[in-house]
Amino acid sequence: MTQPQQLRVDQSRAEEDVRVAKVLTYLSVSGVVCLAGIGIKSWFSAHPVHAVVLILFMLLVLLNMAAFRRSGNYAQQKNGLLTIVGGLFAYLIASGGESNTGPLWLYVFPPLVFYLTSLRAGSLLLGLYLAFCLLVFMSPDLPFVTGTYAPDFKLRFIVTLMFESIFCFVLEASRRRARNQLVRLANSHEQAARTDELTGLPNRRDMHLQLNNELARYQRSGRHFSAVLIDLDHFKRINDEFGHDAGDQALQEFADLLRSACRESDTASRWGGEEFLILLPDTSLLQALTLTERLRSEVEEHDFIYHSKRLPVTISAGVCSITQSDSINGLLRLADKNLYDAKEAGRNRISPRVRSKIPSGSR
Ligand code: GH3
Ligand code: MG
Ligand code: MG
Repeated sequence: MTQPQQLRVDQSRAEEDVRVAKVLTYLSVSGVVCLAGIGIKSWFSAHPVHAVVLILFMLLVLLNMAAFRRSGNYAQQKNGLLTIVGGLFAYLIASGGESNTGPLWLYVFPPLVFYLTSLRAGSLLLGLYLAFCLLVFMSPDLPFVTGTYAPDFKLRFIVTLMFESIFCFVLEASRRRARNQLVRLANSHEQAARTDELTGLPNRRDMHLQLNNELARYQRSGRHFSAVLIDLDHFKRINDEFGHDAGDQALQEFADLLRSACRESDTASRWGGEEFLILLPDTSLLQALTLTERLRSEVEEHDFIYHSKRLPVTISAGVCSITQSDSINGLLRLADKNLYDAKEAGRNRISPRVRSKIPSGSR
């Protein structure tokens, strides 16, 4: 995965965290209202123990909300709420709640569990819950079991809960699959929008972004960079003499040479037509000139063969450093001017010419 794609995946995960946190806050508020309402009702319906337990769970939900407000920790908020809800539902199954209707609340659990955890963790948790229900239903003599359920209810409850769990699993799995497909699609579109189709190099749009990033880095930390604008010489003639396909092949082969001449931190892009732009971070003008001269000589010596014919490919290049300009436009103008000078001086050369002495401000 490329750096921008990874950034976008991280960003979409962070956005999802914020979304989930919001949903959990709404759920917590509704939970508090429900628990307070039913707790008060139980108190006045002569179920004081049940009322106190519900109010205790309500306080735990409030505590979890307060902890999240203080820490902003999404994972803690999620796990906290799952644990509280899990404990509450276990209590409702074992005690039966009011009039043995407590287990009905468990139907809320499968969608919540799959929404908050992975499919695997959710399945495991629901499996454990179903096992716990079976234990309560089959062993009414256990000390913590006070609910009493009719045999028909037990069977129907377990079967419907299993059905709901499987249904939620299938829905959640397909929701996740669709989301992953969307992320993959967005990534491939983004990749296509930044890449030149013929050469596979970053295109002009991507290069503009990288130049602006590099300028911001230069303004922040003073780490300079250089740029090289390259143009293939008399390229029209190659197209005219050998055909457009020969021209395309020459562009692809030149792009390969360019890639192998650059370091990993450099960016070589197709600027447009038969023009290419290289961005060289942490590189002085002298170093950039050396690299460009080496590339020029490699291109001159390279055999560009198309249908057994050698294509006469050479390049001219304009080189400059950000220390000679204070903006990207100024840098590009200077690179363009230097390229023009190289063409004027006869092509198959770079400009400025490598001299023994480079102005000290440009290094
Ligand atoms: P100079 O040395 O002054 O740069 O001369 P030139 O012929 O290279 O420059 P000019 O701008 O006259 O012609 C550029 C040519 O590059 C014309 C255009 O058809 C060709 N070209 C641009 N993009 C492509 C491409 O993707 N494939 C092919 N085959 N040719 C292309
Ligand atoms: Mg050109
Ligand atoms: Mg040209």
